[in-house]
Amino acid sequence: EITSLELTESILNRIKEVEPKVDSFISLTEEYAINKAKEIDEKIAKGENLSPLAGVPMAVKDNICTDGIKTTCASKMLENFVPPYDATAIKRLNKAGAVMVGKTNMDEFAMGSSTENSAFKKTKNPWDLTRVPGGSSGGSASAVAAGQAFYSLGSDTGGSVKQPASLTGLVGLRPTYGRISRYGLIAFGSSLDQIGIFAKDVTDCALVLREMAGKDNMDGTSANVEVPDYTKYLDNNIKGLKIGVPKEYFGQGVDEDVKNAVLKGIELLKEMGAQVKEISLPHTDYAVATYYVLAPSEASSNLARFDGIRYGYRANEYNSLEDLYIKSRSEGFGDEVKRRIMIGTYALSAGYYDAYYKKALKVRTLIKDDFVKAFEDVDVIITPTAPNVAFKIGEKTSDPMTMYMEDICTIPSCLAGVPGMSIPCGFKNGLPIGMQIIGNHFDEATMLKVAYAFE
Ligand code: GLN
Repeated sequence: EITSLELTESILNRIKEVEPKVDSFISLTEEYAINKAKEIDEKIAKGENLSPLAGVPMAVKDNICTDGIKTTCASKMLENFVPPYDATAIKRLNKAGAVMVGKTNMDEFAMGSSTENSAFKKTKNPWDLTRVPGGSSGGSASAVAAGQAFYSLGSDTGGSVKQPASLTGLVGLRPTYGRISRYGLIAFGSSLDQIGIFAKDVTDCALVLREMAGKDNMDGTSANVEVPDYTKYLDNNIKGLKIGVPKEYFGQGVDEDVKNAVLKGIELLKEMGAQVKEISLPHTDYAVATYYVLAPSEASSNLARFDGIRYGYRANEYNSLEDLYIKSRSEGFGDEVKRRIMIGTYALSAGYYDAYYKKALKVRTLIKDDFVKAFEDVDVIITPTAPNVAFKIGEKTSDPMTMYMEDICTIPSCLAGVPGMSIPCGFKNGLPIGMQIIGNHFDEATMLKVAYAFE
């Protein structure tokens, strides 16, 4: 048997060895991890009954607040921000004995699909160091893929857990909106944001979800829905289970080899006894446009709090209050964040609100209704996670539109609020391909069951 201290030390050594190559972390918390591990070992020695996660080293995306530990959102704006409290998800994992080894790199304020929008560093994909790990939770993905943590937390607004999981060959899970408290997750698009999980396998993923999920009084949007013991559903029995395959996800824009790998995966599930049927989610085509009105609108409102006064970056020189706002925000935010604030402010402004924001809300309802209707007939929906395998660093940075298209497969279900996972289903040129399993509202259990049977 291995102690938590031994496990933690071996992970810290591994980090030392590979971190210069992959750049997964913004800050490391070695001392904190060692002390935590010792604490857990003492509890074990005393014979305390602990969670299976107790003493296991993990990593946390740097937009999830950790008490006394810097939380930067990969932004100059929050470069020196030390939260005075833990996010609820962190509080719950700490109670379960989690050993955090560091805070991971990300796209600034979680805006991006490649982790290239970090103000501090570019994370590399451990499968090929010239490629991106996906984003925005790219540091959390690469940390687990490179063996620097056993699992990690990310956040997913429009695909930021599922897409990087796909590009790094991991299991990634985004729960139903409202399943995990958002208290202490620094807001991007509040009606979409959810904390998610990266793990090496489905069982680990289920264990971590179970610890974090459930109603929290600190988040009014967290749902009072019973949290099942997900591990009970991991039984390799998917006989008769109905899988919907939406034809809209296998058209243009998705790589042929990716499509084929996913279709082969679906075929395997059929051989295990699942029933497969083609379905239609007719409003899929409008999802990306809808998202890029709604998410920036919410972001423009959420990021208004970074004014250089209360906390965060403040410009050195200014000659009026307004000038202080302008300079602090101009110097503190990066290009993509500014782009979103401008789009969002425009979409919410008096003359355009009805034409853009309100319209997008209506289309969002149509997209959600597509899923509600589909789930009257099927138990899960399966699609590709990302339209392609990991792309080269720098390949898409000059054109935001091609970057935005990275999320065509993950955005619709995020808008609908239903849970989704990515699970490895093959390779192209030595790079992992992910299959997306989408579940019905609050039915993460069935989604995990299918993922477990598949892996
Ligand atoms: N890539 C999407 C965006 O840039 C999704 C990001 C996310 O889920 N946080 O908005």
